[in-house]
This record gives sequence, C-alpha cells and structure tokens, in this order.
Amino acid sequence: MAYTYDDQNIFAKILRGEIPNRTVIETEHTLAFDDIAPQAPHHVLVIPKGFYVTADHFAAEASEAEIVDFWRTFGSICADLGVSPDAGDGYRIIANSGRHGVQDVPHFHLHILAGRPLGRMLK
Ligand code: C5P
Repeated sequence: MAYTYDDQNIFAKILRGEIPNRTVIETEHTLAFDDIAPQAPHHVLVIPKGFYVTADHFAAEASEAEIVDFWRTFGSICADLGVSPDAGDGYRIIANSGRHGVQDVPHFHLHILAGRPLGRMLK
C-alpha cells in the first residue's frame, strides 16, 4: 500500500461502530448509509469496509470480491430507490478524491444523489 490510511477518520469510526449511522444496506464488504447532511431527497454514501482512501486506491488495491460487492450493492440501492433511468428519474454518483476533488473524509465513498433535478456540473 503506497498511501497512508488515517484510521481516525469518521467513516472508519462508523465502520467500528463508534459513531452511529442510518444504514441503508450492509453486506460482507460494503456499507451504505444516509448522508448526515443530504444534498438531495436521496443522498446515500456507499463505502467499502476495507481501508481505501480514494476511488483509484480502491480500484487498484481491492480484491475482485470487494469490487464486485461494492458495485452490486450500489446497483441494489438504485433498484430499491427506484431511481434507475429505466424505472425512475435517474441519479448522480460522485467520488470526491483528494485535494482538488475536495474530499473531506479520507475513506473512499461514493455519493448517490437522486430525487430532484441535479443541474449541470462543470459550469
Ligand atoms: O466527499 P466528501 O468527503 O466531501 O463528503 C463527506 C460526506 O460525509 C459529506 O457529504 C458529509 O455530510 C458526510 N458525513 C456523514 N456522516 C458523518 C460525517 C460526514 O454522512 N458523520
């Protein structure tokens, strides 16, 4: 591992059960919970239970089982929320990573935002 993981970050504390969360779904390798400061009617954070700081760390270092579990869990959340464009109005996923990505919590997490028009990014 070529990076340092701060095990005192807030999501590490959530994973250890030291801080409460509103769990949406928990699997062997993945936890998803409602964001404490929602930016949309649905705002779910999906995190691996393993210690990865950013999306690229997760992609490079996680096992195939972790990666499959993560994305399947993401898919099941979208299905449960009914936000897939097949059945609903769509969603946005964001993984803020590092300084320029304005990442506050240094444990890889995917934001799922849905339930309202989200506007354009990069404007
Ligand atoms: O992507 P970034 O690191 O900036 O986002 C961290 C997210 O974690 C924020 O949306 C914040 O509201 C959320 N958070 C949370 N529960 C906490 C602390 C932060 O859902 N206890």
